[in-house]
Amino acid sequence: MLARLAPVITRLDLRGRALSARDLLTVLPRPELGVEDATHLVAPILEAVRVEGAAALRSYGEKFDGVRPEHLRVPAAAMQAALDALEPALRSALEESISRVRTVHAAQRPADFVVEVAPGATVRQRWIPVRRVGLYAPGGLAVYPSSVIMNVVAAQEAGVGGLAVASPPQASNGGLPNPTILAACALLGVDEVYAVGGAQAVAMFAYGALGSEPQDGDHLCDPVDVVTGPGNVFVAAAKRLVRGVVGIDSEAGPTEIAVLADDTADPDHVAADLLSQAEHDPLAASVLVTDSLALADAVEGRVTARAAATKHVERVRTALGGPQSAIVLVDDLAQGLAVVNAYGAEHLEIQTRDAAQVADQVTSAGAIFVGPYSPVPLGDYMAGSNHVLPTGGCAHFSSGLGVHTYVRAVQVIEYDQPALAVIADQIVAFADAEDLPAHGEAIRARGV
Ligand code: NAD
Repeated sequence: MLARLAPVITRLDLRGRALSARDLLTVLPRPELGVEDATHLVAPILEAVRVEGAAALRSYGEKFDGVRPEHLRVPAAAMQAALDALEPALRSALEESISRVRTVHAAQRPADFVVEVAPGATVRQRWIPVRRVGLYAPGGLAVYPSSVIMNVVAAQEAGVGGLAVASPPQASNGGLPNPTILAACALLGVDEVYAVGGAQAVAMFAYGALGSEPQDGDHLCDPVDVVTGPGNVFVAAAKRLVRGVVGIDSEAGPTEIAVLADDTADPDHVAADLLSQAEHDPLAASVLVTDSLALADAVEGRVTARAAATKHVERVRTALGGPQSAIVLVDDLAQGLAVVNAYGAEHLEIQTRDAAQVADQVTSAGAIFVGPYSPVPLGDYMAGSNHVLPTGGCAHFSSGLGVHTYVRAVQVIEYDQPALAVIADQIVAFADAEDLPAHGEAIRARGV
């Protein structure tokens, strides 16, 4: 007789417990190593890159990626070689993904507008792309050409002129980033690519980096205005630390899935989806929220069986067994919605009756995947949506990556003399109330 496998995922039973959104935040699963903890580990890395430039980037490549890159800036010939060697089926997948992501992101471009506040008084709003961006594509435990597409297409559709990409050096590719990362950059027309990973890549983009070898030149990399892209907890922590020196997108750290499911969900689909997230990172979170004990039991069995047979078994078992993953039992769908809204998952799947209607009641999630045929891996690669999404509860206050990440709204104010005259007394009244009389005088100086 086969021994029953011990469940790889724990349970959290919230049935019969009336918890406020605030209480829920304290009981819901979260990883042990958070972004705040990791900031202490990466702060010295940022400082070393700021002071030493390329010399520090090479040392960290050796330390964290197991290879000391000779060329930190990828030579043009290596980009072309990677594109030439791209297998046709993979090239077709990359091109399809680029096309779908471009279609969605082209629709995201915000429109300028002008308002005539009063006769002769206009306020115009213009959206202006940032000048230069640094885009991160992860490449530690797995490599993510898909993240190249998500970053680059969004920045291109925003109208950004200067794009640089960084991804960790790979020992298997002679210290250059993974060849598919390079090929994706080449397909997208990006030629400024660096073999730099983790927090050091974020630092290079934020501060710029001086060269240390003749092939680097004096300035290896110029600073950027905005750093975006997903990564592990060290990348997310580095982005938190450089915010203010540069803009960042959301903190898109170790990935998360929450599945809100009822007794209509297929337990094998749910189990497969929980596992697909867990294989990213030992810190990845997989959470099922359900009001069906039968579904919870069935998913637990399927997850445990699938985990035993999956390729990245150690990573998956660590992620599913960690404090960030759980099967959460709730009384009903209403409590389930309260739980997922308090959690604010990066990815939220709705696998219930009337899934679209349930999805409309979600108020916090990075992205929502509706119904049985919209699993998260669809969004990872091909849906057209962006897969760089807020984690760790950041969905409560930030959005996934998009055109909006790379543009700024600038207001343009233009009043003529009669329009200013109409409100001159009121401006002076404000100025006097704030004890800033020179403000009032600047108005009166115009003869109004
Ligand atoms: P990565 O490129 O993010 O990280 C690799 C780098 O981590 C290394 O180059 C190294 O510099 C750094 N590092 C490793 N150990 C370190 C240590 N002890 N101290 C300091 N730095 C260290 O690649 P990865 O590790 O495979 O992680 C990819 C991550 O991206 C996963 O967590 C995945 O879930 C996440 N991801 C998130 C999203 C999102 O939108 N939220 C999307 C895709 C991927």
